[in-house]
Amino acid sequence: SSNKKQKFNKNNSNNNNKVDRAQIKAKRKEMLDFRKKLPIYSGRDAIIKAIQDNPAVIVMGETGSGKTTQIPQFIKEAGIISDTLGGVAITQPRRVAAVNLAKRVAEETVTKLGGQVGYTVRFDDTSSPHTIIKYLTDGMLLREVLSDELLLRYKVIVLDEAHERTLRTDMLFGMVKNIQRIRHEKAKNGENVEELKIVVMSATLDAEKFSEFFDGAKILYVSGRLHPVDTFFTQEPQADYLDATLVSIFQIHTKNPHGDILVFLPGQEAIETLTGLVNDYAKQLRGKQQRLLPCPLFAALPPSQQQRVFDPAPANTRKVILATNIAETSITIPGIKYVIDCGLAKMRGFNPKIGVESLLLHPISKSSAWQRTGRAGRERAGVCYRLYTEDTFRELEDDTVPEIRRCNLAAAVLSLKASGIENILEFDYMDRPSRISLVRALEELYALGAIDDTGTLSPLGRKMSEFPLDPAFSKVLITSAEYGCTMEVIAIVSLLSVDTIFFTPSDKREQAAEVRKKFLHPDGDHLTLLNVLKGYWEVKGDVEWCKENFINIRNVKIALEVREQLVRFCERLEIPPQATCGTETESVLKCFLTGFFQNTALLQPDGSYKTVVGNQTVKIHPGSAMFGKRVEGIMYNELVFTTKHYVRGVSAIQSAWLPLAAPKYFNNKAL
Ligand code: ADP
Ligand code: MG
Repeated sequence: SSNKKQKFNKNNSNNNNKVDRAQIKAKRKEMLDFRKKLPIYSGRDAIIKAIQDNPAVIVMGETGSGKTTQIPQFIKEAGIISDTLGGVAITQPRRVAAVNLAKRVAEETVTKLGGQVGYTVRFDDTSSPHTIIKYLTDGMLLREVLSDELLLRYKVIVLDEAHERTLRTDMLFGMVKNIQRIRHEKAKNGENVEELKIVVMSATLDAEKFSEFFDGAKILYVSGRLHPVDTFFTQEPQADYLDATLVSIFQIHTKNPHGDILVFLPGQEAIETLTGLVNDYAKQLRGKQQRLLPCPLFAALPPSQQQRVFDPAPANTRKVILATNIAETSITIPGIKYVIDCGLAKMRGFNPKIGVESLLLHPISKSSAWQRTGRAGRERAGVCYRLYTEDTFRELEDDTVPEIRRCNLAAAVLSLKASGIENILEFDYMDRPSRISLVRALEELYALGAIDDTGTLSPLGRKMSEFPLDPAFSKVLITSAEYGCTMEVIAIVSLLSVDTIFFTPSDKREQAAEVRKKFLHPDGDHLTLLNVLKGYWEVKGDVEWCKENFINIRNVKIALEVREQLVRFCERLEIPPQATCGTETESVLKCFLTGFFQNTALLQPDGSYKTVVGNQTVKIHPGSAMFGKRVEGIMYNELVFTTKHYVRGVSAIQSAWLPLAAPKYFNNKAL
């Protein structure tokens, strides 16, 4: 009978195969029909030829024309890449984009994700040795340079979303150009090395600048279809952009014809607040009115929910997509007719003189505003509502300042050093960062012990560069071995990696604070986070418990995934997974101090705190466990400048710990 059964199985699978094959064929046809309708498809042959004939090509085209999803497929179909020649890497500034685009292209090629098509983002990798079309964040490609100096696994590198000028894309420009030159010389000398091809893609009219950088690279323009968009400004400046957004959404919904709404908001917090508000107000809509369905879209959102923004709205429903600037150029959402632009974005900024990195709400640039507007006119004529006045618009900067000119360069400099670039002052930057910010980055790395006094990468620095974390966090993880508290540190770092693990509805602030008092640790936020996690584990992540305690279960789960990854990273770097036996307080804080000794402030006689570096007065953020407390010294994870200099992620320290945490740094400084 066992034979019979086996036969049965075999037949069955044969039948399945037949059905599968027919299905796959139908799906292939459907996908090809879709692809042929994209504006870029008519330029297919010209694009393939340009890439075949030139070492570097710049492709400029309207968002949604098909650059990111189609060009890698063209490259593959033309045989420019293969298992033996190497694959194509397509970089994205944002992980959500890399993940979604890989999924989409796997669907279009009717292959399994992680086969021919895959993605690699921090803490998540679906690529396999068979992957020849790989979407990855710019940070991950920088990381790959560490293990594959000449990026030999790739035949083509596509630097996408180049107009965004993120710090990492900018670094890649210089590195990839250099790699191309080296591979060219090796190939010329008869070494068995494939030449590297570079494709730069941009959605704005800055192609000339990229072309110049890549020695006069050929520029291709892809015309998109863009329909007229009516643009409106508010008459008065808006004091509360969330309120203004809410009013605009319901105005469109109750007065304007069918079509989905795309709202640009600065971040996860604003998006979550507004999602709640839209749901509340939508319940009050009466009669035959269409329903209104809010769909949030931001980086930390679980993939299943991200997909919702692409699904057509259910019958008799209008979608309102609440997104960060991910929807500006990286991801195209079909069905949009209305755009609401609050005019703000969260941007990293850095003041190299006092060493403060800030994440600030910042007015967007004119070119961003136009990109946002354009999203309303992709499929037919649309309308864009700008929640600012025309005068405000006129005062906006023309373009966004490249990140390399405004953020902390320590992580960037560390990865340049680790990939073998010694003289970072002379590196081939498309836009040179200021000398002072480069020098500051070197000083910080020296203080952390990542480089020595000749600027050479130390063994510690090399180890630090392997972690997908900021240098200070990498240092803390590595030194946790000495303090015997690796597991605690991993947990805390993971919890810090999400926006917040707390859930604080605006109408229940006090209640939430009261309930969460039981988690408060007298020594501050780091150990408070750990207390929450212990509580969460005790009840095995019970949903009700999280609700009662105002814990954001989704973010805790994301943090736990990060934790898994970090555990594996530590294993790989041979950092033993030790935990203290309940005596963690001092060792955990001392350990964090080895990375964050520059983020410290001491209590002054007048009760204020002044930073050890820069002598700046800082206030403890009201959301911190240390709020209102007076202790000898504090250490913090971030300094946020809003109206005042606020510090967040704060814990108590003793000033005597400082010289121990960073002997080199505090050697000659009187505390
Ligand atoms: P570009 O890079 O030029 O901005 P893309 O290649 O990202 O354009 O997108 C081309 C088109 O593919 C979009 O207009 C959209 O219609 C479609 N598309 C992209 N991603 C998805 C997805 N996840 N689901 C459905 N359609 C998608
Ligand atoms: Mg794109």
